[in-house]
Amino acid sequence: MNNEMYDTIILGAGLTGLTIAHYLRKSGRRVLVLEKGERPGGVIQTCSENGFVFEAGPNTGVISSVELVRLMDELGLQFEVPHQFANARWIWKKRRWEPLPSGLLSAIRTPLFTLTDKFRILLEPFRAKGTNPDETLAQLVVRRMGRSFLNYAVDPFISGIYAGDPAQLVTRYAMPKLYALEQNYGSFIKGSIAKARRPKPAEEKRVTRQVFSVEGGLSRLTGALVASVGAENIRCNCGKVQVEEVETGRYRIHLSESDSRQTARPDDSAGTAGYALLTRTLVTTFGGPSLLDTLPFIKEVEKENLGALRYAKVVQVAAGYSKWDGVPVRAFGGLVPTCERKDILGILFPSALFAHRAPGDGALMSVFMGGIKRPDIFELSDEQLKAVAVQHIREMMQARRDPDLLRVYRYPQAIPQYDATSSRRLKTITDLQFRYPGLLLAGNIRDGIGMSDRVKQGAAVARQIGEYLEVTV
Ligand SMILES: Cc1cc2nc3c(=O)[nH]c(=O)nc-3n(C[C@H](O)[C@H](O)[C@H](O)COP(=O)(O)OP(=O)(O)OC[C@H]3O[C@@H](n4cnc5c(N)ncnc54)[C@H](O)[C@@H]3O)c2cc1C
Repeated sequence: MNNEMYDTIILGAGLTGLTIAHYLRKSGRRVLVLEKGERPGGVIQTCSENGFVFEAGPNTGVISSVELVRLMDELGLQFEVPHQFANARWIWKKRRWEPLPSGLLSAIRTPLFTLTDKFRILLEPFRAKGTNPDETLAQLVVRRMGRSFLNYAVDPFISGIYAGDPAQLVTRYAMPKLYALEQNYGSFIKGSIAKARRPKPAEEKRVTRQVFSVEGGLSRLTGALVASVGAENIRCNCGKVQVEEVETGRYRIHLSESDSRQTARPDDSAGTAGYALLTRTLVTTFGGPSLLDTLPFIKEVEKENLGALRYAKVVQVAAGYSKWDGVPVRAFGGLVPTCERKDILGILFPSALFAHRAPGDGALMSVFMGGIKRPDIFELSDEQLKAVAVQHIREMMQARRDPDLLRVYRYPQAIPQYDATSSRRLKTITDLQFRYPGLLLAGNIRDGIGMSDRVKQGAAVARQIGEYLEVTV
């Protein structure tokens, strides 16, 4: 019988799981992180090859939570802030790039929006606020700003963040800050001005909403978290994990035998050839079938509600050029509206933003494809995906040379879509956490999809667990 009792077992060693573990370890808790994959970090993975430093997963984050700023301080890391033109985004329209307007004046001058919608934008502060809490992003934007604003600003922006469809995403779940802006101030424009004028405490001033990386790539962040948690407290290749509630507030984690050799001692009581661990609190940090398999004891209807969350499939192709002969790149990236009917979602320009991402006068491009509207892209072979990426870089960036490096990364479950099924999912999570004390369902199935959101949630979950462990025995 294995009597080893942990305070907390965290399933998943991505940014969320590692952040939770970091805070619990800091407060002296006995923590174990179990990871299915062969390395910690989750989708964050920086690669280095022939002078190119490129990301397989997220390329950048946004400094949008105090918790992220604090975590970076605690880990002794500094944000790598990009070149000043990182605020510039390009939008593809009629065979050329146009800058995405960054203010009212440029919104009036841009060829991206129709004249009628330019008037709509000017009159936005005087429009009545919405009353439907489940309004989609597309409905909200058409109502306040017009269809061309939806097509040429919001649609590509949502492709860039969610690889999603504004007609499916429900604003209050997918863009809660935007929803609050309309609800609290009656207008996006009035709300943005009021918020910019509001005096901020010193720490909040550091929440600049700027794009960031970490020098050397984002794996430095997850690497620093691993060092803080202690590699001995993270077990990779953990195989199939199943959770059983042994009594209220006690969970037994069953691991398949083959992968658990070094992670646990045999558990005779389980009556299987497997291994098991005991814990007072348990956190899951992923969704999809993997979550449902992990919690076999939950009701069918709860499985349905959790399983209703759809994910966008995303492919990223990293293309490295030792010598760049295309258009001068002075932007964060270029985004492609759905109505332009291309096979890619957009191209990011990491080497234009950060130092040491490409050799000498070379360039690094990250081409994104797929998303919720184009799952068919995922069916292409790696060679076909490379060809699509190169062809679009040729056409859109006027590159004449072939890239010297091409790598394909596929994410079948990349970005969750916070659509109309969200209220059922969130209620189910609340119900389960109430019924099973010490069980927490975290990760991007709730509370936001960006890296800042993940760190913010991780800090909050760790606090919640700390309080729970204090008052229970
Ligand atoms: C292609 C791509 C681009 C992105 N771009 C951006 C961006 O530009 N900016 C931004 O802020 N965010 C971006 N994101 C989102 C951001 O990367 C994520 O929000 C964040 O890294 C997710 O961290 P996580 O720990 O919640 O999940 P994950 O990183 O997915 O980690 C979950 C971990 O759980 C493990 N796991 C799964 N099942 C089990 C199981 N049964 N047992 C044990 N372990 C299990 C997985 O192997 C994984 O390691 C992007 C994501 C992707 C995929």
